[in-house]
Amino acid sequence: MERVSFTGEPFSQELEQGVDPATRLPYGVSRYYSGLVADNGENPQSAANGTRRDPIAAQYVPTEAEHHVRPYEDADPIGDRRYMVVPRLVHHYHDRALLLVNDRCAVYCRHCFRRHFTGHGSGRITKPELEAVCRYLELTPQVREVLLSGGDPLMLPDRELFAVMDRLRLVRSDLLLRVCTRMPVVLPSRITDELVSGLAARGPAWMVIHANHPRELTDAFVAAAQRVLRCGIPVSNQTVLLRGVNDNADTLEALFSALVRIGVRPYYLFQGDLAAGTAHFRTTVDEGLEIMRILRSRLSGLALPIYALDLPDGGGKVPVESALLRREPDAYVFAGPDGREYRYPREKA
Ligand code: SF4
Repeated sequence: MERVSFTGEPFSQELEQGVDPATRLPYGVSRYYSGLVADNGENPQSAANGTRRDPIAAQYVPTEAEHHVRPYEDADPIGDRRYMVVPRLVHHYHDRALLLVNDRCAVYCRHCFRRHFTGHGSGRITKPELEAVCRYLELTPQVREVLLSGGDPLMLPDRELFAVMDRLRLVRSDLLLRVCTRMPVVLPSRITDELVSGLAARGPAWMVIHANHPRELTDAFVAAAQRVLRCGIPVSNQTVLLRGVNDNADTLEALFSALVRIGVRPYYLFQGDLAAGTAHFRTTVDEGLEIMRILRSRLSGLALPIYALDLPDGGGKVPVESALLRREPDAYVFAGPDGREYRYPREKA
């Protein structure tokens, strides 16, 4: 691991960072999040020697397994680049568009599916880029919702984030702004009163967070989520189904029931994308279906997320249970929203 320091980055004093020369996905973790690793003898790095991987460490500690890229994997598994209508704006779905405002994160998740962009050095959105985005949105009224993402948009200082939101509002006062961030989970001190009141003032806004394990739901996380909710910003959560982290019904039941108790709606449980070097994290679709079957018997509809898959080749997001057409020896075959069939590999469990 090559240690580098992103000096001048906001919050850099809170972060440990470096770059994995093989995958080019940076290494980075907030001191807060690495502090959640249990001190109980579980091996943070690898399950190879018979010890269990710590579910927190497994999400940010790079391993050798990432260097094994399957032929069907890609740095852009859901086809962002194909739908990039102007630099940093991905318009894939009819009424919403994704704006990549910043390429930095407080934790670089080893399962990240946006590794073609995340931490690659494009940094923050520039003024000319934002103007081009605004021109597109002005001419495309069908877009009702803009997802502020990256990277993590909350790695921007408040002033810069608010300036982006204000510019979008100026051109389209009707837009719903969705802030997609891991900050409440990985650096809850970032969720200040000034931040949430500034977001609320620029609403309507939603926040979508990314929690994968009940150990992430600390008192600091709960306080951060409640700060957002108290300002009138609804919060929902997306979880990625990750082998060795949360691939069992007990863990996910604990996660989803705790989230819903504090007012955070479990929204999606994602089947792993075919991101380069992430096969060790993926469960099979049949394992995911079995977990959902158990969860359905234990959780209310409010606490039960949709088990979803972003189809390979930019096929779009589908609910696994209703879109699965059949199993072939080497692939699950799904019906895409466009009526075409899409194949997702049947890897060994
Ligand atoms: S916070 Fe999101 S964008 Fe950043 S590394 Fe994790 S999954 Fe990727």
